[in-house]
Amino acid sequence: MVISTTVPVQNSDESVHSTFGSRYVRSCLPRFRMPENSIPKEAAYQIINDELMLDGNPRLNLASFVTTWMEPECDRLMTQAINKNYVDMDEYPVTTELQNRCVNMIAHLFNAPVGEEETAVGVGTVGSSEAIMLAGLAFKRKWQIKRRAEGKPTDKANIVTGANVQVCWEKFARYFEVELKEVKLREGYYVMDPLKAVEMVDENTICVAAILGSTLNGEFEDVKLLNDLLTQKNKETGWNTPIHVDAASGGFIAPFLYPELEWDFRLPLVKSINVSGHKYGLVYAGVGWVVWRSKEDLPEDLIFHINYLGADQPTFTLNFSKGSSQIIGQYYQFIRLGFEGYKNIMENCMENAKALREGIEKTGRFEIVSKEMGVPLLAFALKNTSKHDVFEISDSLRRFGWIVPAYTMPADAQHIAVLRIVVREDFSRSLAERLVSDLQKVLKELDSLPSKVPVPVAPTKADGSENAEKITKYWMKLVAKNKTSGVC
Ligand SMILES: *Cc1c(COP(=O)(O)O)cnc(C)c1O
Repeated sequence: MVISTTVPVQNSDESVHSTFGSRYVRSCLPRFRMPENSIPKEAAYQIINDELMLDGNPRLNLASFVTTWMEPECDRLMTQAINKNYVDMDEYPVTTELQNRCVNMIAHLFNAPVGEEETAVGVGTVGSSEAIMLAGLAFKRKWQIKRRAEGKPTDKANIVTGANVQVCWEKFARYFEVELKEVKLREGYYVMDPLKAVEMVDENTICVAAILGSTLNGEFEDVKLLNDLLTQKNKETGWNTPIHVDAASGGFIAPFLYPELEWDFRLPLVKSINVSGHKYGLVYAGVGWVVWRSKEDLPEDLIFHINYLGADQPTFTLNFSKGSSQIIGQYYQFIRLGFEGYKNIMENCMENAKALREGIEKTGRFEIVSKEMGVPLLAFALKNTSKHDVFEISDSLRRFGWIVPAYTMPADAQHIAVLRIVVREDFSRSLAERLVSDLQKVLKELDSLPSKVPVPVAPTKADGSENAEKITKYWMKLVAKNKTSGVC
């Protein structure tokens, strides 16, 4: 009797192959067309998991304000809710109730007036971007209603902001046909100057948008001064121009660390505020909030009443279906941490930011452009004498695993390039110390390399030196680089 020792491949049970010996990992991955045949779930998992290993490590991504760590208990709650469509409010009334409780808590945190006349209203969104679209639309519609009643044209709406606004304001302006009138920055002053902003307000201004926690350097804009100046102008002109506060990053910082700072609904002209739940609200990406001071500030004709799947449900959002997990995660954080917990976490972030700041200052190479009061982040520029630039430092830090973005400032401060490190809850003191020591290593390494910087100083508009053209070209290159690297 002859026993064959070779097993024909086509007859073999695929589950006996080792994962990395199977045909699934031996062929190229489909990229342009859906593959003809199915593959085993284990193989699909392994292939995708392995490709994702090449992404950066979120915990070391110091570019982002967005939460990268939550407690395992909350992870569990959120995973359990992964199959709940948030929009099915009639079917999931408890989830809807949790969102309403979150809105109430945030409105209270932002000192919304309480009384018969004024009751704050708000809604959960995908992030501050959607929240800002909704707030912007409410202002535009209110302005149009008023203008029509006065028999005046409604085709030239504008918003006044600083040139430091986040890109979502530019999106809002373009998508919804509102002109963005930007107050330019200047060297050493990287937020909106309230005096200049109020000067730019005209009869077509639907609102002035102030930022609590500028994306560029974490600085809080002076909303109180803006409110006072604008009140004065409104009195003189009779226009009644309102204020929106973009508190995407600062909305969960200021109430805990600077309760005396008046930036919110305590100021009468502040009609709406947005905040990102997924930034210092401490929830994973996918949740933001917008709150209006009172029902009157949200025009009724923007609200849709749907009874698609049950009872009447008023909604004001840009999309329809979305997950419920983020709302549940937000409610978890509110009740789990309470005011005390948020305060502790924000204080800790600030202390770590301070430790980083000291370490960075000690190198003697940098100018710090973030403020001690503001969002816990470090924005710092190389001193003029440096042979290297911040983009080289950013690239070199990447080799140690750190993701630290470098970018140039907007108009008229675009000759300043900075590095920015956002300090989040999960960035511990030992990581801060480690980062400083890696930064020192990078600086030492760069010192031994030839300079890529053609001349050590940045051009100014008045720069008439023979090198001006060369320098300008160099800076244009930096600006282009910054445009593609993206800052969030
Ligand atoms: C992050 C940010 C935004 C955009 O918020 P998302 O929640 O990411 O959509 C808007 N404005 C400011 C000031 C921000 O920091």
